[in-house]
Amino acid sequence: MDFQKILEQIQEDTQKYFGIGEVANYIPELAKVNPNQFAMTVATVDGDIYSVGASQQRFSIQSISKVIVFAMALEQIGERLFQRVGKEPSGSSFNSLIQLEQEQGIPRNPFINAGALVSTDEIIKNNKDAYEAILNFVREVSLSADIDYDFKVSSSELETADRNRALAFFMKSFGNIQGDVMMLVDVYCHHCSLSMTTEELSKLFLFLANKGVNPLNGQRVVSEYQAKRVNAMMLTCGLYDNVGSFAYEVGMPAKSGVGGGITGVIPGHLSVSVWSPELNASGNSLVGTKALELFSELTDLTIF
Ligand code: GLN
Repeated sequence: MDFQKILEQIQEDTQKYFGIGEVANYIPELAKVNPNQFAMTVATVDGDIYSVGASQQRFSIQSISKVIVFAMALEQIGERLFQRVGKEPSGSSFNSLIQLEQEQGIPRNPFINAGALVSTDEIIKNNKDAYEAILNFVREVSLSADIDYDFKVSSSELETADRNRALAFFMKSFGNIQGDVMMLVDVYCHHCSLSMTTEELSKLFLFLANKGVNPLNGQRVVSEYQAKRVNAMMLTCGLYDNVGSFAYEVGMPAKSGVGGGITGVIPGHLSVSVWSPELNASGNSLVGTKALELFSELTDLTIF
């Protein structure tokens, strides 16, 4: 398959979707991002990389980091994690409070904000320095030693993170957060601020396309069983309240972030990342979603 040609065609065919969505504006630093940007990278399990657009430009991965902390927490404590977080799609927005009250402080899944706060709470508990542990994981798995937090973005989000603090305090009132809430939200906002390119994200996610082993260096990241679980969770919960239409149109496990990134995997084949900052009403990249729909159409690659 000529991935380079396919990516070029996608880049051309998605031009018409610019100007419809809106850049995330509830995090002041993200509101400054130039909306008119696009990058897309395919990384195959054989180690080939194909890119178009600004694939060397780092951007804020935001909620894509929820996959990282979920995979880390699952690897560190196993299925016990599910005593604190569910496995069902939420059908509501990523920062909703309503369900939490009805469900006694147990978030529906690890990919809404409340669920990612639970994974982060576990990482704080189980690692000497959570900031360092998360950064090391990302650097090692994506083979990019200079990936870092974007401290401008994390400070900016921390100034406007009252809703996330509310979610964390609320869960704590049910006994489902063990550590200090202010510290927890600080670590959470830092991992959301991780700044990466589409190429780095595609490399990072390759272990999920390869039964838990990073094909770029042969190192096991999670067990085969856990890789399957992470992918299942992305398929059913990775795109908030767009998850059904995304599965219908694209047909691959994926995770989005309000920085405009989406990364997905076709197990056994590849990972694919796209970035374009304008978002649809659910907080997913609008052009990025269209690009992945076209990718699925042009390649016929799907898990179904
Ligand atoms: N840091 C963002 C928040 O907590 C992440 C949201 C997202 O990317 N959907 O609101």
